[in-house]
Amino acid sequence: MSKIIDIIFKPTLYKYKKPFHITGSISYEAKNLEVIIKTESGVEGYGEVSPSWRVNGESIDIIIPLEKRVREVLIGEDVRNWRKILEIIDTFKSTPGLKTALGFATIDAFCVECEIGVWEFFGGYTDNIETDKTVSIGEVDEMVEDAIRINKEGFRKIKIKVGENLLKDIEAVYKISKKTKAEYIVDANMGYSPKEAVYFAKKLYSLGIDISLFEQPVNFLDIEGLKYVRYNSPYPVCADESLKTRYDAKKLAKEEAVDFFNIKLGKSGISDALSIVEIAKSFNIGLMIGCFSESSIGVNQSVHFACGVGGFKYCDLDSHLMLDEKKYRGKFLQKKNKIFVRK
Ligand code: MN
Repeated sequence: MSKIIDIIFKPTLYKYKKPFHITGSISYEAKNLEVIIKTESGVEGYGEVSPSWRVNGESIDIIIPLEKRVREVLIGEDVRNWRKILEIIDTFKSTPGLKTALGFATIDAFCVECEIGVWEFFGGYTDNIETDKTVSIGEVDEMVEDAIRINKEGFRKIKIKVGENLLKDIEAVYKISKKTKAEYIVDANMGYSPKEAVYFAKKLYSLGIDISLFEQPVNFLDIEGLKYVRYNSPYPVCADESLKTRYDAKKLAKEEAVDFFNIKLGKSGISDALSIVEIAKSFNIGLMIGCFSESSIGVNQSVHFACGVGGFKYCDLDSHLMLDEKKYRGKFLQKKNKIFVRK
């Protein structure tokens, strides 16, 4: 009774409440796709992909024509054989976000059939996580105002986007840290050279500023550069754009290039994300979970993954808070900075 009988692709469009500016890109809207997997027993599983051209070379126009192939290979499979289904899904190598939506929808359907929460399926480690909220790139005063507002909203971890203007970035992070009381994650989205990144970190350190994580300071292919920053900067360095597959994780770990991994389901798919967690544990690498421009349906995937698996020291799951979404549809409750899975 658990065979997949139908798979529906549903494109959606969300506007950002405020344009989201990071190194080299400004987003005004998110063109996402929901995936609904139906089984014989009438159960439905939900997934969402927010394709990232910048990180994955994936877009909605690339995904939609894959619907026919997805249906060919998945209809008739039984969601109880979810590992086998993930293996089939992993053949869609060039669309990691789609892999996530399909994999999660499969597991979601399986969990409805089993009458358990997806977070329990992934391990049931905890029923809640704390998320940060992000300050996007802007004029220094505007960034400081945003950070103050976020802090007042109840967020105790603030992520600050930098990477386009070294001296202005230093000023912005310095001023934000003086006007707010929070832990800071700084994300350069590959914007610096290794030497600029080290200058940035040493300068802020000399000013007495504490930064919890320095995310992707340099280009994603520059593993040597990441390692250079890691060993010449006082702050822990985190890989984001450099970390997509389990093979990236293995390489980064063997090269001792970073202190933290930022896992995004949309870069990896479910099976690689699970592998990356184990690689991180084997090498004493810390864990963070992030997102693209998912609505609450997509953020739901990461919430249940992070709660179930456990061990995510930093959660950057705030995209649904930045999109103009009429109604939250995730199986979770958001209370300020806290996210609780719905039981
Ligand atoms: Mn990042």
